[in-house]
Amino acid sequence: MTSDPGSDGDRGSEAEPQAQPLVCARCGIRADGPRPTWTCSVENGARIHFCDTCSRENLRAIEGRLDSAWW
Ligand SMILES: [Zn+2]
Repeated sequence: MTSDPGSDGDRGSEAEPQAQPLVCARCGIRADGPRPTWTCSVENGARIHFCDTCSRENLRAIEGRLDSAWW
């Protein structure tokens, strides 16, 4: 007798990391897809995004590297 291990390898599920929807850290607006115009900043190891409008507002703070106490 030949014990044939039923190798029913049905691996068709690709482990693809879902891209988290961009959410503006300032106004809270959500982006449906990738927004190249958005600004990505790293605060304390956490990624935060700003929409095109808020990024312009925060540009001064980001460039000035002011104290992010109000963030
Ligand atoms: Zn915004």
